[in-house]
Parts: sequence; structure tokens; C-alpha cells
Amino acid sequence: MYPRLLINLNAIASNTERVAQMCHQKGIELVAVTKLVLANPEIAKTMRLNGADKLGDSRLRNIITLREHGVPGPYQLLRVPMKSELGLVVHLVDEVLVSMPETVFELDALARNFQRNIQIIYMVDVGDLREGVWFEKAVDEILEVARKIKNVKLVGIGTNVGCYGGVLPTVENMNILLAVKRELENELGFKLKVSGGSTVTLKLLEDGILPDGINQFRVGEGIILGTDATGDRDIPYLSQDTVLLEAEVVEVDYKPSVPYGEIGKDAFGRTPVFEDRGWRHRVILAVGEQDVKPDGLKPLEKGAKVLHASSDHLILDVTECERKFKVGDILRFRMSYGCALRAFTSPYVEKEFIQG
Ligand SMILES: *Cc1c(COP(=O)(O)O)cnc(C)c1O
Repeated sequence: MYPRLLINLNAIASNTERVAQMCHQKGIELVAVTKLVLANPEIAKTMRLNGADKLGDSRLRNIITLREHGVPGPYQLLRVPMKSELGLVVHLVDEVLVSMPETVFELDALARNFQRNIQIIYMVDVGDLREGVWFEKAVDEILEVARKIKNVKLVGIGTNVGCYGGVLPTVENMNILLAVKRELENELGFKLKVSGGSTVTLKLLEDGILPDGINQFRVGEGIILGTDATGDRDIPYLSQDTVLLEAEVVEVDYKPSVPYGEIGKDAFGRTPVFEDRGWRHRVILAVGEQDVKPDGLKPLEKGAKVLHASSDHLILDVTECERKFKVGDILRFRMSYGCALRAFTSPYVEKEFIQG
């Protein structure tokens, strides 16, 4: 059935091993992040059994999937929890990223009735402006929380970059985090771990400039796609042939490159613009916005160019291709993070495992 994702578990295993080896050499714990693949049990198991020390996901439903399929934990909840899910969090999660005192207090109260060892990592915003207490206020807020909780344990602080502000990890912002850690340790009298980043932070590790003391990485994209969207690169020592999309040709045609008639907006409120390139050879594939992010598709077919997608149709210009297409032909694509996220989430895209 098409469209489908071809998932190469061997390539994902090698990527995990490689990232784990880099982390472990520096005493860094690796949390493999499964949200991109909706916690697909085979993929999660592959990551956990090939070097990842923990599995992290932003959604509790995905952590339930992992548990139901017997994928070994421990499990980290990446998105700061909703108040309404804390009742489940105390049952299902081992390590929770948090950013609000009231949430921690509620979690602490709920945890009173359980023997589970629930650990919390308090998020500190070093500039990206997504979750976390602003770094200048972090020590006061975290100290107050740490001193009041009785049943859950503060084990570390963490940060996230590259997600709202597009802020890149640097020696400077990692040092901000480490300064907060040192102040907290002095006051609290026990050691804290520092969860320093995600795929984009691998660059600091590679370049040998990651400050000592950062000892947890949470990595999804790098392992699963071999890419780094925020850093805008293919990671050179990782495989990008981990997940490919295949889609089927339903129409082959030869048409002008500029529409004929008055132009309104397209189905997504966009006003299309066209360059007149004369008549062009095109194909329509049976896949669309509901399944992929068209601008995140990279055709493996040399010369093919994605023109546009509506909900269910993807139009490609294939004039420059050597191959002559016919109905029923299959085209393959690599995907950006955003595109892969949509493809894994679409129930219309089959997921198949291949050897390779
Ligand atoms: C998604 C997420 C990650 C993993 O990010 P990648 O870029 O996929 O490595 C890490 N931390 C948090 C808090 C996340 O939400």
C-alpha cells in the first residue's frame, strides 16, 4: 500500500550506537526521544537496545504505548506536564521535565501515596523563550521548590534551545546553565545533573567545546533522521537513509507552468505564484498535505522538483528527469523533521520495516 514509510532499523541502530558512544565517552547519559515516530515500539526498542540509557517522549499516550509493548524504560516525560495528566504521570513516568512550582507541588502531593521514585528535572530558559524559568530567576525559584517537596526528588536542571527563538546552543548559554547548577548545589548540598540539549547540541560535543558538567542529552531527530533542523545540516557521521517515503504516480501529464484563468487563494489560504517556464512534464502523486509537508520533501529522483500539494495530491515537475514516468510508478523521498512528523502521524501512510 502507498504512500508508505520505509524504515531501516539497522540504520537507526547504527545512529543510536554512534550518538551513544559520543555521549558515553564524556559521561553523558543519552535519552533517545521517540515523539517523532509516535513511540513506534520497534524503533523505540532499537534505540533503547543500542545504547540509549532512557527513552523520552513529550506525550503520555506515547509512554503508554512503550509500556504496553514492553519497551524497556526508564521513561522521561519531555513536555512539562498538564495539571490534568499528573494523576497518570505518577504511575507511568520516571523522570519529568518541569517548569512551574504549582505543577511540582501537585505532583508531589499525588506521589505521596506511591512508592515510585519520581525524579524531576527543572527547566531553565537560557534564551530560546520556550519552557523553563528565566535563568536570572532560576536559582530562587528552584530552591524554593526543592525545599518544599517531600515525595518527588529534584535530580537536575535542564534547558531547551532551538525551538521557539531558534537560539543555538553555545558555550555561553551552556555556561549559564552550569552557573545555575553550581549555585543550587552550594545551597542544597547535593549534586544535580544537567540536561543540556537535543540534536542541535551534538555540534558542541563534536567540536570538543561542550563545557564539562553537561551530563544528559535528549536526542530524537539526529538518531532517527540523521539531520539537524536547527543547525541546518546533515550530520556527517550519521545515516540519513533511515526513513524514506514512497508515493505512487496517479497522473502523468504535459501542461503549461502557469495556470489559465483568474487566480484566487489555494485551499490553505496561500496565493500561488508562478514562473512561466513553458510547457512542463509533470506527475501527480497520491499523497498530500494531510500526510507530508511538501517543502520538506527531497526527491531521490534526480531532476524531480516538488511544485505543490493540496490535501491529497502532490504535483512534481519531472521535465529534467531521465526516467519516463507512467501511472503506477513509485517515487522515493527523504524528509525534513516537520515532514517526517506529519508522515508518521498520518494514518494514511503505511509504516514498513526494511533490511538494509
Ligand atoms: C523534542 C524534544 C527533544 C528532542 O529534540 P530533537 O531535536 O528531536 O533531538 C529534546 N527535549 C525536549 C524538551 C523536546 O521536546
